[in-house]
Amino acid sequence: MSRHPAKKSQSSRRFLVQEHQASHHHYDFRLEMGGVLKSWAIPKGPSMKAGQWRLAIEVPDHSLSYFGYEGIIPKGSYGAGPVIVWDEGTYRSLGGEDPLDQLAAGHLQFQLSGKKLKGAFTIHRMKGREREWLLIKKRDDYAESDWETVSELTASRLRRLKVKAPPCEAH
Ligand code: MN
Repeated sequence: MSRHPAKKSQSSRRFLVQEHQASHHHYDFRLEMGGVLKSWAIPKGPSMKAGQWRLAIEVPDHSLSYFGYEGIIPKGSYGAGPVIVWDEGTYRSLGGEDPLDQLAAGHLQFQLSGKKLKGAFTIHRMKGREREWLLIKKRDDYAESDWETVSELTASRLRRLKVKAPPCEAH
């Protein structure tokens, strides 16, 4: 256990992207910080194309036990429908401060090391909006000019999913 909170922003934390076919299809982008998963629903999914922004709607924090959750959220529950892990890995804050402080200020820069998502990104709150943010891939060696967000919720994947209550209310 570190007794130096200032060092924490340099350490890597986990991130998770789940693909979620609720009433509307979207991707849930989640960053571990402060003992929870800060979460956004991205209707079009994250982009690896430099400069391409994706609308990210802030949703309530999720518990860390959401890591690894896949299954079909039962009918009648919030977010009912299939959820799969679309990408996961670690991230590092590029701002040098605690990422929670940066989020509170409406702007976070970070470096992702995932299977699909890699390199520098920013997420910032749109002016005058409370819950609407933009996720943007920054120009770097990882950026892909011909990127397309590809769904992993294929028919065969769906057939293998079981009805399973999520560890907390799903958004
Ligand atoms: Mn969701």
